[in-house]
Parts: sequence; C-alpha cells; structure tokens
Amino acid sequence: MDRPTPLLTPSLSILTLVPLCFVRYESLVRLYPGEECGVFAVCGHPNAVTLSTYGLYALQHRGEESAGIAASDGKHPFRIHRGMGLVSQVFDSAALASLSGSMAIGHVRYSTTGSSNLMNAQPIAVVCSQGELALAHNGDIVNASELRARLENRGSIFQTTTDSEVILHLMAQRVGKPVEEAFLWALDQTEGAYALVLMAKDKILAARDPQGFRPLSLGRLDDGYILSSETCAFDLLHVQFLRDIAPGEVISIDGDGVHVLRAPRPIETAAFCIFEYVYFARPDSTIHGINVSQARIQMGRELARLYPVEADLVIPVPDSGNYAALGFSEESGIPFNFAFVRNHYIGRTFLQPTQLIRDFNVRIKLNLVQESVRGKRVVVVDDSIVRGTTARARVANLREAGASEVHIRVSCPPHRFACHYGIDFPDPGSLLANQLTLERIQSYLNADSIGYLNIDGLLRACGSPESSMGFCTACFTGRYPVAFRRGLHKEILERNQLTPLAAK
Ligand code: AMP
Repeated sequence: MDRPTPLLTPSLSILTLVPLCFVRYESLVRLYPGEECGVFAVCGHPNAVTLSTYGLYALQHRGEESAGIAASDGKHPFRIHRGMGLVSQVFDSAALASLSGSMAIGHVRYSTTGSSNLMNAQPIAVVCSQGELALAHNGDIVNASELRARLENRGSIFQTTTDSEVILHLMAQRVGKPVEEAFLWALDQTEGAYALVLMAKDKILAARDPQGFRPLSLGRLDDGYILSSETCAFDLLHVQFLRDIAPGEVISIDGDGVHVLRAPRPIETAAFCIFEYVYFARPDSTIHGINVSQARIQMGRELARLYPVEADLVIPVPDSGNYAALGFSEESGIPFNFAFVRNHYIGRTFLQPTQLIRDFNVRIKLNLVQESVRGKRVVVVDDSIVRGTTARARVANLREAGASEVHIRVSCPPHRFACHYGIDFPDPGSLLANQLTLERIQSYLNADSIGYLNIDGLLRACGSPESSMGFCTACFTGRYPVAFRRGLHKEILERNQLTPLAAK
C-alpha cells in the first residue's frame, strides 16, 4: 500500500478536518491479518510449557515467521516469550527456563510480504480491565479495520498492527463483567475467520467463528486439556483426541473441566476452508473426522477418473502432491514413483518476493532423479498451481531430463480469487488461472496436457455430502461466505506509528 498522503492542507478549515480525520483514519494504519497460523493451548497440566513447545513444533508448517508462548502458574504475572523464526530458533533452553506454569498458549505465525516483526508475533498479552489476558489467533478478521478505527477514536492504544488485537480491546471495554461474557461480547462484533485460544487468570477460553473456517481440536492428557489447530500435535504428545471445537462454538476450560459457553452452529451452515484439506493441513491430521492424507488420496482418484491419460509413470511434486499422486496411481493403475528429491532445508518459496529469487528457489528446492523419467510419459501431480512458477520449472526439469511426455494434474480447481479468511494467496492479478485460459496455461507451462480437479470431485474427496459439512470454496468459485470490504488485503492498515491522531 502506498504511504498515505498528508491530510492537513492550508485550504482545509478545522470544521472540515474533524470528520476527515475519521474518514481517512482507516487507511492510515496497515493491518496485518492473522493469516496462516497455528494455535495451541494447555490447561491444567504441570508440563504445560514443554507440551506447548512440542505442540508448536508439530504445527510449524502453519507458520514459520514467528513463534511464541505465554504461560501462567495462576499466581504470578504471565510469562511470555516470543521471537522471530522457527520454533527451534525461538525456544532455546534459556527461553524455556523463563516460562513455567500449568497453563500455556502458543502460536506460530506466517505472513508473506511487508514487515515481519516481533511486534506482531503472538500470543499478544495485555493487562486490562479484565486482568491479564493473552491471545493467539488463526484466521483473518474481515472487519478489523473498522473495529480498530472505532476503538482508536475512543482512545484505545494498540501495540500491534495485527487484526487479532481488536478482540482484546473489545473485551477490555466490558469493565466489571466476567471474562467469559466479555469474550462472547467481543466475538459478537467480530466478522470473518478465527480459531482462538485466550488465556485468562485461571482459565483458557477457545472459539471458532460461526463458519468454522479454520480448524481447532480438543484433547485430553492426564488431568489436563489440550487445544490444537491440528490433531498431528496430539499424536506427537500422546494426547487423547476428544473432539473438534465445532463451528460457532465457544468454550472455557478451568479446574472443573470444559464448559460450553456458546453452542455450535449446525454443521451444514459451516464454511470450512477446503484448502486446508488440499494443501495447508498436515497429512497426518484429521479434521471433522476426515484424515487429510485420505482426502488427498481421494482427490487423486477423482482426478484420475476426470482426466485419464496414457502414461508410464505418476510422480508427485513433493511433499504437497504426494498423496494425490498416490491416489492417481491407484485409480489409473499407472506405476507411482518419486522422481523429485526435496531439499528439506529450504523454506517455503512463496515467501520470496521477486521472480528471480522465486525461480532460483523452485530449482534449489527440488532436484530430479533423471534416470527415473528418461524416455517416459510422465504424469506429474501437484496440489495446486498458484502463480505457476513451480509447475513451469518442474516441466522444464522433466523435459531436460528426457521425459517423452509431461502431463500435469492438479488436485484442486484453478485458483482464481483471493482468500480473505486466512490463506495467503497473491492478489488475483498474479494467480495464473485468473490470467490465462486452460489452453494457454498448458502452453505456458509447456505441458502435453493439463487437468484440474473440479469442485464436485474435490467436495466428494473431502467427505461431502455424507458428512454434511459445509465448505468455503471462495478461492476457486468467488463465492465468499462472509462479506468483506473491497480492497481488503493483508496490509490494509499500515500507519506511520509516529503520527498522532490529532495531526492526521
Ligand atoms: P506457484 O504456482 O509456483 O506459485 O506455487 C504453487 C505451489 O505453492 C503449490 O505446489 C502449492 O503447494 C504451494 N502453495 C500452497 N499454498 C500456497 C499459498 N498460499 N501461496 C503460495 N503457494 C502456495
């Protein structure tokens, strides 16, 4: 976003200035939504900090930019440690020694462009009229800029430029009310996507937005309760899975157990992000009773039925295409093999802003076993094509290695629309399928054929209609379950932090 133009000009009278301050205000702060994140919480376990650290390791794929844990022993002020980088970089032994207690919440965060700074790392902790609170959020609050403008115009002082912080400020306004009521009141004004864990003095609260865009599961370990964005973290810690927090459900956990503060919405009205199944969630997680790897295998099977092809070999783009390629191979009878070898020490390439660096990164990330593909008709399966950089480089690799034919199969429909609920896609202008027809995509990628899974096949693979779960498919269809303001993007509210309100 461009730097805001100064509002004060000599020709403006003070009377015209006052309303203008409010009108322009929203565009003067650049807000970084929650984006792709993972949340974790432990309530009532003596090893809450260690468990949270390991939990965050298991959720690392949901956010590589920063990590943090807030812990409480119920007697002393909350102890918090947050840092930039991977969980392993943020939590050294000194950091872990500084945290203690039987309650803890944790967060891993990912954002793509713009400033990536400690200020926006979570959990966000405050001392307010509700006492001490710490919050961790996954998702995007679509009306955060309006809420923030309203709150700041009444004097609220924000400490971050994330959308998540508005929830704490709203809660702080409920002076003298129980924390549960303040939480529900804040959520009533919050629109969009949120899976939240909130630590108060002697309890942990958790919520999913009414559509249930982002996942959140509840488990049990010894006498304690665990909340996690994904169940893969439960497996690691031998946590017994109890259930998913349902869309619209709000709970609290204290010494007496789990209390439902707000009942779930009917599952049919939910809009769970289908891209969690396609790409984002880990394959060893189970969401709403459907294991992610199994859903991906079904996507591959559907794809093989929809776009069959005569070929000698099915290969995945690892790791994202592994399970769909397996399903494609099983359904088609074409042998499966790994031909791309992944370098695990390179981060996700879509973090990189320039085309040059992106091209370099897609090549350094995967190398090809040339002997496996030479002279063969190859089907290469990936989960999605976003900008097309990865797929184009893969086809070039395969041709250089002597593959006689290269057929691309993608286990979701073409990405044409932005996500406003927590997955970072580039602006629609950079989405390949938004720019080119299918035919032109095929020739741009230099493939012999291309096939994308359709919406019906994708929904079937994710258990619909049997599970009666509703899904958000906005990035493919442009049908947005929750209205958002046009022009909303992840840096909508960056403000010069030094500019006082009165001077704007
Ligand atoms: P590209 O088409 O080169 O932009 O990258 C597509 C690859 O990035 C796919 O193989 C996906 O696995 C992966 N990907 C998944 N989600 C995202 C995302 N939100 N932004 C960018 N790339 C993603």
